[in-house]
Amino acid sequence: MSSSTPTIGVLALQGDVREHLAALAGAGAQAQPVRRAEELAEIDGLVIPGGESTTMSKLAVIFGLLEPLRERIRGGMPAYGSCAGMIMLADKILDGRADQETIGGIDMIVRRNAFGRQNESFEAAVEVTGVDGGPVEGVFIRAPWVESTGSEVETLARLDDGTVVAVRQGGLLATSFHPELTGDHRVHRLFTDMVRAAKELGRA
Ligand code: GLN
Repeated sequence: MSSSTPTIGVLALQGDVREHLAALAGAGAQAQPVRRAEELAEIDGLVIPGGESTTMSKLAVIFGLLEPLRERIRGGMPAYGSCAGMIMLADKILDGRADQETIGGIDMIVRRNAFGRQNESFEAAVEVTGVDGGPVEGVFIRAPWVESTGSEVETLARLDDGTVVAVRQGGLLATSFHPELTGDHRVHRLFTDMVRAAKELGRA
């Protein structure tokens, strides 16, 4: 694999943008916030942060970003969503707000706030396919889970009870948990490698 440095944006409408920028830099990417549609032209891949998907969805519409984001993702731009970002990348959601839009791209149904009140926030060791060196520390905060997936979607991680908490479909990656909050950059490195590979392919 070449050592070229991909430029990866972080959707900076709402959420833990700074933490993702730091994690991407730690993973060897050139990281920059994205707030305007024009800025999408500057990036090779995009992270959609954790936060509040209903707010993010509203702001994406207000800022005129929803359609441009859908277009770039349809055109093959790699994207990674953590928690609220996973919701934003889901083709279908359950327990969303009535007017809640997603960007979509991953053929899956995701349930918002799925773990319920008893288990709103918790940590769990999660083995993620494609991430070497042992389980990652999964930080779950009012997290969604993946309720079902289409045939093109690969399950990368499950909790002990079988709940699907990380998936990949081509260049699109999503986790229910927040690796950006742990200082462990392995998931961001996996995504950076995916972006680098897509970029190299585009050049070939
Ligand atoms: N519950 C939030 C939502 O629905 C996601 C929480 C998170 O990103 N930590 O968007």
